[in-house]
Amino acid sequence: MEYPKPRKCGSCGVLPAQRHQEGCDWARCTQDGSQYWVCDGDHKGKCEPCMYWGYYHGELECYEYGLFTEKDSIWGEGPDLNALAVKSTWSKKDQRYYIG
Ligand SMILES: [Zn+2]
Ligand SMILES: [Zn+2]
Repeated sequence: MEYPKPRKCGSCGVLPAQRHQEGCDWARCTQDGSQYWVCDGDHKGKCEPCMYWGYYHGELECYEYGLFTEKDSIWGEGPDLNALAVKSTWSKKDQRYYIG
């Protein structure tokens, strides 16, 4: 599948390579990649919204690793964020997911 074009954050509206704003529901916690606004990890006040790279978090990783849902699944054909969530780990340094 072809890579999608980068776009503004669909929640807080920041441009690619900017930090998500407070209260953005697309933002991941920089510490572990969990959803920022509901992050309940033990991060001792270090929770902060992560950088935004122009795609919903995990979307680009799905293209990179070839994780797609089937055309006849309930989601239709597209990035398989659930599969990614199971297989990947968050990189605090790069603020993205990696597999392996
Ligand atoms: Zn945002
Ligand atoms: Zn956190």
